[in-house]
Amino acid sequence: MTDALICSDCGTALAPSKQRKGTRCKSCTARAMSRNPATRAKISAAMRKNWSDPDQRAARVASMTEANRRPDMIEHRRALGKALNNIGRFARPLPAGHPSRVQAGRTLTERRLAWCPPAYRPLYARLTEIDGFRAKEARAIVEDQIASDLAAMRKGSLSPSQFMAAREAARWIRERAAEEAARQGTS
Ligand SMILES: [Zn+2]
Repeated sequence: MTDALICSDCGTALAPSKQRKGTRCKSCTARAMSRNPATRAKISAAMRKNWSDPDQRAARVASMTEANRRPDMIEHRRALGKALNNIGRFARPLPAGHPSRVQAGRTLTERRLAWCPPAYRPLYARLTEIDGFRAKEARAIVEDQIASDLAAMRKGSLSPSQFMAAREAARWIRERAAEEAARQGTS
């Protein structure tokens, strides 16, 4: 009679129990049941049946609603949520070049560089990414550069490509100021 008191799956010692059917401990029984397709089908059929009964359903909804209001349940959910705060682990990053990523990057750049005319963004990028300037310093340098380019443009002393960039920037700055004014006029 001694060998009957050991779980047939994991070998844990079993306390004598009249309710136990079979030879497994509680958790091995649950595991075996959850892995058995026939048992699972039976359980979900029973759940579906209960759920389709309006009284049973109302009772379940009421008890879940009640449980969801209990402070200890709220706390428990919060703890579970923290433990499961694994979005980074489960969310696969989209591949580089994916339209959503491109769009997200563009939006971010757009927001961070909203002050900077597109023609001068490569300069800003070089200053921050290669030359190691901080954002504030790089912005000041770019703004100085724009001012001096615009002055040079008016004097006609820019190379054709510098002229293009400066003219584009001048137009961009003008349009942006107009948009800003319109936004403030409407709000
Ligand atoms: Zn076991």
